[in-house]
Amino acid sequence: MSLNHIPSPGDPGSRLLDGPALWPAQAHTPTVLGRQLVIDRGEGSYIFTDDGRRLFDGTAGLWHANIGHSNPELAEVAFDQMRRLETYHIFARFTNDKALALGERLAEISPIDRSKVILNSGGSDAIEVACKLARRHWQREGRASKKVILSREFAYHGLHAYGTSIAGLDFNREGYGTDSLVPETARVSFNDPEQVAAVVAEIGPENIAAIVTEPVQGTGGVNPPVPGYLEAIQKICRENDILLLLDEVITGFGRLGTMFAAERYGIEPDMVIFAKGITSGYAPLGGVLVSPQVWEPFYIDSPDTPVFRHGATYAGHATAAAVALRHLEILERDQLIPRVKELETLLRTEFDKLARQNVAVTDVRVAGLLGGITLAGHLKAEQVCDDLIELGYVARPLRGNTIQVSPPFIISDQELTLFVTAIDQAITERENR
Ligand code: PMP
Repeated sequence: MSLNHIPSPGDPGSRLLDGPALWPAQAHTPTVLGRQLVIDRGEGSYIFTDDGRRLFDGTAGLWHANIGHSNPELAEVAFDQMRRLETYHIFARFTNDKALALGERLAEISPIDRSKVILNSGGSDAIEVACKLARRHWQREGRASKKVILSREFAYHGLHAYGTSIAGLDFNREGYGTDSLVPETARVSFNDPEQVAAVVAEIGPENIAAIVTEPVQGTGGVNPPVPGYLEAIQKICRENDILLLLDEVITGFGRLGTMFAAERYGIEPDMVIFAKGITSGYAPLGGVLVSPQVWEPFYIDSPDTPVFRHGATYAGHATAAAVALRHLEILERDQLIPRVKELETLLRTEFDKLARQNVAVTDVRVAGLLGGITLAGHLKAEQVCDDLIELGYVARPLRGNTIQVSPPFIISDQELTLFVTAIDQAITERENR
């Protein structure tokens, strides 16, 4: 086929061209088309397809539906807020009461002392803000050469421009002229702090703005930090005037059994990036918690004070903020974060059993209510996850032939046990085929 041949419906190989107008752009489109599961209803930990199948949502969607689906309390909050004021922007002299209140609440629970908050619409947005602010910080300090953003191999930080350039998964980087998309980024080892120190020395701390890291890598295969790694990275940052940016888009708001992973691992970052779990997905919302050393210079009462010129129409969206406030109340009122701790213990027990009973399971990893199961090469995680759908369970294949397990916080012990039993069954049946 010549390069400028445009297939038309009816041509061989073009049967998919009549597919839906909604482009599933994140995936290999022809693989996905014709196999899509149309979800039209949710209830707690379950989702329902338009042809009536009920599935246990073992990944909480894209690690977001922490309090489960279709919660009427949050629906009412959104309804009430929209009838009062859907939103008002927070540019120049304007702001709105809900965004202000959410800022106060976030500052109270933030792992950073006296933090300020920037809000926007999701995780990729928040990564843009954090990386931009890191560069702005050093430029304002008169150290404009500090521009390089370091990230870890296997990292996932969303798919906007910074997120693409700092991605540690090659398939998310390739094809965009990535090294010049956001120039001056580099990858470091995901588990060896000595290699990180060597990269810092090679590039030169005078050229490095920040290190960005997920506390537990998610999309890269559910990789909890090897003991001492995060502490060592923090030390490298402190000793070299490098900002530490913690991407808590998955881990924030309880997924690891603490409000933030920073608490669990005893890390004091300069910025925390959050999204997903702030509303459990009931409104598109993300943001960045910022430490005083970064925000204070922008608050000084002087005509010479610099501006961090960043904003968006929906930054501080009033309905999203109202939903987030009630969502944070629910997390606390229903004691869902301590519940994650209990479920972590059970998940560990169940995973250990799974690994003992299946030679095809080569590794299991657990941190909070976040689990990864790695399979031997002769079994494909994609296939096992497809089989699990037939059994009524959603799990997700990730890099490294790994199966992601990250159910909502509201599940019962029995539901978790049944979920791991179903995974066991799917693995065993594939093995015996
Ligand atoms: N950072 C991490 C660690 C993530 O897991 C994700 C999304 N899975 C993002 C950033 C991007 O968030 P969003 O999809 O809301 O843009």
